[in-house]
Amino acid sequence: MTDTLPAADSDRKGGLGVWAPKITPPIGVDLDDEQKLACAFRVLAREGFSENIAGHITWQRPGEETMLVNPWGLWWREISASDICEVDAGGTVVAGRWDVTPAIHIHTELHRRRADARVVIHNHPNYVTLMTALGVLPDLVHQTGSMFLDDIRFVQEYTGEVDTADLGADLAAEIGDAPVVFLGSHGIIVTGATIEEAVYRAASLDRACRLAYDVMVTGRQPLAMGRGQMVGMKASLLERGAPVYFAGAVRALLRDEPDVLT
Ligand SMILES: [Zn+2]
Repeated sequence: MTDTLPAADSDRKGGLGVWAPKITPPIGVDLDDEQKLACAFRVLAREGFSENIAGHITWQRPGEETMLVNPWGLWWREISASDICEVDAGGTVVAGRWDVTPAIHIHTELHRRRADARVVIHNHPNYVTLMTALGVLPDLVHQTGSMFLDDIRFVQEYTGEVDTADLGADLAAEIGDAPVVFLGSHGIIVTGATIEEAVYRAASLDRACRLAYDVMVTGRQPLAMGRGQMVGMKASLLERGAPVYFAGAVRALLRDEPDVLT
């Protein structure tokens, strides 16, 4: 045995540089930004982001100071486009018919510091929250987990409700540049450059945690994946997978719940 990885395990290329589809199935409906965000809430509610009223998704579009966000009091599964509110950089509602909780500061201060984090998702899906309760990160035991390679950070200390800009700034400083953050005894923050990327990451994460948990309870060691293969797979999943995941999830949603667009 040596410490040097064999040549076959050097980083693989992946993503659109290796193969780009000539065409992908469209959603079939042109969505405005509020409709797109409302679809994101319901898609993720179907994927376990459904602890009744908990959590936000914020979307600060490039060049904008304001953010689109869900209002206080509606469950993610019932949000429609006309429910989406707009807040300024300090979290004050500037448009929309509902109110927004001060917990929005988890998001405002992250947007302020992170040019890459155009979309910030926070909630408490079950298997993610199980990991945060145990204070462990999930082992990446399946190829879809490759998308989280090197991207997860754990903020261990539970600090209670993050309901001021100062507390949001402290948390943002601890988060740094991580795209995925496990909050001890609390839940998850997932960021993305686009709605498609952030939703795909979030939807894949709770499943990755469930797989990790199922492996943990067997008491057996999972097979190891080579880091080099995971690097290529990560690029392919995020670059190719995100847009087609979102389009397919929205097509399925619109067949069942067309009122999301109202
Ligand atoms: Zn929370």
